Formats: sequence, structure tokens, C-alpha cells
Amino acid sequence: MTPAGEQFCYSDAYAHSIEARVRAVDTGDAVIVVLDRTVFYPGGGGQPSDRGSLLRAADGRSWMVRAARKIDGEIVHEIEPGDDDPPAVGDVLQADLDWARRLTLMRTHTALHALCGVVWRDYGALVTGGNMEPGTARMDFEFERMSGDLVDAIEAAVNTELAAQRDVRVNVLPRDEAFAIPDLIRTKVNLLPEGIEEIRTIEIVGLDLQADGGTHVANTREVGGIRVTGYESKGRINKRIRIALEDPA
Ligand SMILES: [Zn+2]
Repeated sequence: MTPAGEQFCYSDAYAHSIEARVRAVDTGDAVIVVLDRTVFYPGGGGQPSDRGSLLRAADGRSWMVRAARKIDGEIVHEIEPGDDDPPAVGDVLQADLDWARRLTLMRTHTALHALCGVVWRDYGALVTGGNMEPGTARMDFEFERMSGDLVDAIEAAVNTELAAQRDVRVNVLPRDEAFAIPDLIRTKVNLLPEGIEEIRTIEIVGLDLQADGGTHVANTREVGGIRVTGYESKGRINKRIRIALEDPA
């Protein structure tokens, strides 16, 4: 298999525009474009994939990217169907994210880490699942004694942590080193595939450290504040907390 193209979403979350060359085009039900490097995030870990556009400067032709995803380790771009004139192998394209949407997702994702960190630190509750849209998110916990009063306290504590202007760091560690970190795997089930050699971690310095593949802002101040917009029981033990960014734009 040819090696995957460069994937900037994991090393530089703020990269949102790049010039790249088309390595492959597949015209099936959806038109799939593979580039030699990309800034698109393929989705995963509850964070939806990026949207955006591809522009061929040579003739000004452009295509909307409605989603990105990973196929055999390669991040691919799915362009709107019904296009009978897709880009060609060898074309040089400008790949641009819908940056406003991605940045809101980065802030939302980082807010979820702050929530997860607070709930673990203050109540020892494990995460069982989560999902997000730009500006809103939910997270499920194994949290039998959650109540409305606790939720108010959690909202206040998360906002205190976000306002503390904590740096958010990305690290890639050898597997053994990563697994030596206590509590690194905060989900109830260890979702990391067998056999992977390196573990990417996201640290909100002083609050939270997790294995994670998504995109995040560099400092909690960029998140602003959050509101807890709801909570539900999903059973005796499993509880869901919904949050929204105070300022999603
Ligand atoms: Zn994350």
C-alpha cells in the first residue's frame, strides 16, 4: 500500500488551508479525492468530520467537500455527488476547511475535556460515550449519584477551569509510556486498537490527560464559558450531561 498523505489535523489543529496534489480519484456513489497532504479531520471520537472546499487555481474550478473520512489509514475527501467533472490525478488544489465550523468544534471538543476532567477529579465518574456538534455536545458518565444540584456545581467548576487559561498540549507517546500514565484511558472500555505503537494524548495542563485523536484549541481561554443545557438518566447508573458554548460563533 502506498503510504498515507501528510495529515496535519493531528499535528497542527490550526492549519486550515493547504496546497496539495491529487493522488487518486474514485468516482463511485460519491466522488472521493485523495491528496498528498491535507488539513481535513476525518471524524472520530465524537467529533464530526470537516467540511470545506477544493480549489484548482489553474482554472478557478472548485468543489465542495461535504465530508472527510479515513479509508485504510488515508484521509479522503468526499465531494458533492453529481459532479461529472471531478479533479484529476496530478492536479494541484487548494484545500480549505470550513474554518469557522472547525474552530467551533475545537472549542466544543476542548470544553468536553474540561467537563470530563472535572467530573473525574471531583466525582471519579468514568465516561461511557460522547458526541458533539459545533457549539453543543453531550457526554455520558457512569455516575449513579448525579443530580440537578451536582450539575450546577459541575457547570461552575468547568467554567472556573476554562477561565484559568490552561494550556492544551498534544503529545505522541510510545505505547508503553502512555499506558504507564494512571487514568489515561478514561472511557469505560479501552477503545484503543490492539497493536498500535504510538498513543496520542491531549492534556489540559493541571486538569485532564487523555488518549485522544481529535482537534482542540491551544488554551482553555479560547473556549469561553459553557452552560449545562440538560441532563438525563440513561438508566440507574448511566447519566448524560448536555453542554453548549456560551458564545458558539
Ligand atoms: Zn479530544
